[in-house]
Order: sequence, then C-alpha cells, then structure tokens
Amino acid sequence: MSNLPNTEQLVAGIQQWLRCESPSNYPEGIAAMARIIADQAAAAGLTVEVSSLGSATGPLLYVTNRAPGDTRPGILILGHMDTVHPVGTLLENPVRIEGDRLYGPGGYDMKAGIYLALSALAALARPGATRLPVDFLMVPDEETGSHASRVHIERFAANAKYALVCEPARPNGGKCVTARKGTGMLTLNVKGRPSHAGMAHEKGRSAIREMAHQVLALEAMTDYERGVTVSVGTIAGGTVTNTVPAQCRCVVDFRVPDMGAAEDVLRRMRELCAVGPDVELDIDVELNRPPMVKTEAAAALLALAQGYAERAGFPLEDAPMTGGGSDANFTSALGVPTLDGLGADGDGAHTLHEYVLVPTLEMRLKFWELLLKELA
Ligand SMILES: [Zn+2]
Repeated sequence: MSNLPNTEQLVAGIQQWLRCESPSNYPEGIAAMARIIADQAAAAGLTVEVSSLGSATGPLLYVTNRAPGDTRPGILILGHMDTVHPVGTLLENPVRIEGDRLYGPGGYDMKAGIYLALSALAALARPGATRLPVDFLMVPDEETGSHASRVHIERFAANAKYALVCEPARPNGGKCVTARKGTGMLTLNVKGRPSHAGMAHEKGRSAIREMAHQVLALEAMTDYERGVTVSVGTIAGGTVTNTVPAQCRCVVDFRVPDMGAAEDVLRRMRELCAVGPDVELDIDVELNRPPMVKTEAAAALLALAQGYAERAGFPLEDAPMTGGGSDANFTSALGVPTLDGLGADGDGAHTLHEYVLVPTLEMRLKFWELLLKELA
C-alpha cells in the first residue's frame, strides 16, 4: 500500500548520512549534512528552507508538507543534525554492520531517527496526505544546549498542536520519553588575594581554599529523593605553587524534576556566600532547559501513539523520567503535548559503541507514517 523504503534501503541511506561527520563545533560539517538532507527532502517533493544561524554554528533546516497559505497549527517534528563525535571519529569507528547492529558515530543519537521521520514525511509529501500540516525542524546545536536554535524551536512550537522528537528510543525495549529533568549550569568565580606562599602566607586569601567550601555546599544540594542532582564538572585555579591562589573557577551541572525544584535550586545557588574573609564570589547561574513534565495532554498523545505502534508491530511504553534534557523540554514547557524518544532503537548514545538495531527500522518507520498521517 505504501511506498516506504525497506530495511535494505533504510540501512543504505542511514550509512550515507553517517559518513558525513557533523560534530556541534564543526559548522561546515553540519552544513554538508543539512545539504544532504535538504536534497533528499526536495527530491521527495517537500518544501525546504536552509537558514544561517551565524558563523559559529551550522545552519537550521526546515522541511514541510504544508500547502502554501496553510497556517493551521500542525505537527512539529524536532531533530538535531549535530553529534558529540569529533571529526576523525570515523577512522576508529567506521560505519559498518555487525549482526543486527548498525554502527557509526551519531547513528543512534540521532541521524537514524531523523532518517526514519524524514522517510515517513517524504512518503506523505503531498499536502493533504496528512490530516495536519507537518513542520520538521532540524537544528545544528542540540548537543551543546540549542543556544542559537532555541528561539526558532519556540517560534515553531507556538504554532504546533503536537511535538514529536527524534531522540533515540530508550535502550532495552525502545521506550519513548514523556518526562525529562530540567537542566541548568552554574559558573562560579572566586576571587582571593595573591601573596608569596612562603614569605607572606598570612597576607594571602586563597581562592582555592574558598572554592573547596563552595564545592561541598553545591554538591550538598543534591537530593536524590526529590530528583535533584548538582555536579561540579570542571574546576581550575591558581597560577604557580609558591603563590597563594587569587583565582579559582568551577562550572557546575544541575538537574531538576519540576519548576518548584528549579526555583529552589536557583535561589540557593544565588544565595551562596563566602565562608572565608576577604574573598569574592561571582555567581552566574541559569536554567538552560526547563523540566519536561508528563501532562494530561501528553498522556493522551502517548495513548494515541501506543495505538499506532501496536498497528506497526511493537509495544510502546514510556520510560521513567530521564535526567538528560533535549529540545522536547522547550516545546513541553510551552504547553505543547510532546513525545520524545521516537527515534531509532539501539543503545550506546554518546559512545563509540553506539548502534542502531536494524531489525526494528521498518516497523519504526511504519509507526512514524501512522503518527504523521493520522494525528488530527
Ligand atoms: Zn540527541
């Protein structure tokens, strides 16, 4: 009945995409990736727009089956073209098939997911082939926080009835994602007073000593029961061993399950005070991605998706709240019913052993086709 690609064609297409390396910090690689996807979408009869987000990052790619003048709220699909793997990773981790697994950098997270969604949309390119218009937005900077693309994601979310996100399905069962923690970052700079560590130790005010207190205070904000984690990820300070250090800086990752917890953590971080005398703290903290909470509307969307998955040949469950953020956090926070983890089934995101499970590709593609065709 449908003209969807088969497993062999899907594997060949995904492999071609994986050979185009597109780490977040390599705009030329992402631009090349965008061109490959854009050409494929245009060849299928979809409308394509590539726009620049500045020279520091790759372009934004937008693909749609909207008829000209159709401004109805539609289905927003979100994907990211960037990967966490630096240029050259292909040399040590070549694209290859081993048994049921398709290996290659950025395949599971998330080029295979984009490939599935785009293949489904390509088969439904004709306006009217889907009950709702479909907007597919592919960003170049998700792995580094979507700083340049966030405003565009939110602009499209403002006219979305549903959001579907191509992040990988959870390992061991291919579950989807309805709840994600919010993610934030704090940068703390401590300023002390330099002095000769031998001749005038008492005149110095060690920024490292002060930072040691602050690190413990920050890490103590972790509350596993509430789902709050705070992790000092990097730290640097001092200049030479025989000077009392006047500078120290740390960067901290934090995760929160809901806005109440986010506000508590932000307040406690802003209220950090110096423990020792004559030192200054400079605190810069922000919530990057708000928490994605499973709302009633998201649960209703999940129920519909479960029906489509069953028709496509597999059971779809949702995973417990995950600590990793994604662009789903942005659409969910704007009140758009959002399902994430709809991409490829496999395992090993952000590692060299990431892989896609080849035997699941066809039914996941069928699932995408049903989602796009039938959601109303
Ligand atoms: Zn991803």
